[in-house]
Amino acid sequence: MPKTVHIIGAGISGLAAAVRLGNADFKLHVHEATQQAGGRCRSYFDASTNLTIDNAKRAQFPFVDLETGQRWQIDLGDSRLPLWVFDEGRRVPDTSLRDYLALAPLIWAGQGRLVGDTIPCHGTLYQRLVQPLLLAALNVDPPEGSAGLAGAVVRETLLAGGEACRPLIARDGLSAVLVEPAIKLLQDKGAGIHFGHELREFAMSAGRVDALKFGGENAIAIGADDAVIMAVPPRAAASLLPGLETPSKFRAIVNGHFRFDPPPGMPPILGVIGGTVEWLFAFPNRLSVTISNADRLVEMPREELAQAIWQDVCKAAGVAGDLPPWQIVRERRATFEATPEQNALRPGPVTAWKNLFLAGDWTDTGLPATIEGSVRSGNRAADLVLAMRQDRRLKGS
Ligand SMILES: Cc1cc2nc3c(=O)[nH]c(=O)nc-3n(C[C@H](O)[C@H](O)[C@H](O)COP(=O)(O)OP(=O)(O)OC[C@H]3O[C@@H](n4cnc5c(N)ncnc54)[C@H](O)[C@@H]3O)c2cc1C
Repeated sequence: MPKTVHIIGAGISGLAAAVRLGNADFKLHVHEATQQAGGRCRSYFDASTNLTIDNAKRAQFPFVDLETGQRWQIDLGDSRLPLWVFDEGRRVPDTSLRDYLALAPLIWAGQGRLVGDTIPCHGTLYQRLVQPLLLAALNVDPPEGSAGLAGAVVRETLLAGGEACRPLIARDGLSAVLVEPAIKLLQDKGAGIHFGHELREFAMSAGRVDALKFGGENAIAIGADDAVIMAVPPRAAASLLPGLETPSKFRAIVNGHFRFDPPPGMPPILGVIGGTVEWLFAFPNRLSVTISNADRLVEMPREELAQAIWQDVCKAAGVAGDLPPWQIVRERRATFEATPEQNALRPGPVTAWKNLFLAGDWTDTGLPATIEGSVRSGNRAADLVLAMRQDRRLKGS
């Protein structure tokens, strides 16, 4: 039975695997290259704004169109069925049931198809709901995105009714909700959490990993019953396992944060159409925005970008004022490109080495690069380790 499991990477994928295995009484070591857990899903204190900020995207319900000034709200209700599309008062304004039925081909679209070849990428419903939802989920311009991945998102959100679309907001930041409780649970279970511990190389023999090399120190031997889960981003994974096929193209996400008290009654999340900003989040003392598929903004001077975003924020939130203390965070390789071409490069969790499994938002989860996909990938890798233990028990070794 695997006695010890080494998990490389303390992002959400690695932590999900670790929590599942910790609860199944494995001895665990988590090796993280940086000094903190959470990977791309983390919170940190920002000195420019004097606030704790984090990465976040996606929301639904209230919307504003900056070009026309029109505001509306989509009411998905709390059913497990998408009954809201039958109710004119709860649908996107100026849309008909027929517009929603035209989205049906997305539900069973194959992985190789483009969104643009599967559903109409124009018209009111597209502009006011489908485009913002798919842009946030896929992080590419929806027509060039994978219809298979988009279909998975629609099946698990809009088609599953309001119950599946409840917006969950990490009031105190993503780290406080997802990362710190996982680290605490692992520490309580006696797991070793090793920060600043970057895996440099695997040593393999006889079809298995038999040592982990971290550089500058002795290698860690992997016992006959031990297993390794590699939960690092695709570029790191490809350099550690030469020959591994991974997605190779990525898209940026830009987040902007402004130290500003939201006006009374402002919704916690607001979809913004017709501007640079796509989603606006209201927190105590802070307004934050997310912009997906943001490669076009990566080279723009920071101050200019902050000003442009602040103009949108003022219009959307109905506030005025000079640029307050701000921070712009540009993640160049935020997610892999959710196109059919890149989606086809995602490997499953099993490798050519029988005690080495893969996890990560970029592995073949059936979902775009999301927190949900990361958790599923970590759980899946952990389940393979559990199956290995079960297999050995049955064989009596
Ligand atoms: C700006 C931004 C906003 C986002 N917003 C959302 C959102 O609102 N909703 C959503 O669902 N998703 C969102 N995402 C996507 C989500 O954050 C990711 O899908 C998820 O965090 C990926 O987790 P992961 O564990 O697979 O990878 P990562 O978070 O990349 O974790 C991998 C870890 O491995 C470590 N590592 C790398 N190499 C080594 C090595 N050799 N040895 C040891 N450790 C190593 C890294 O330091 C890192 O900690 C966003 C992403 C970004 C960048």
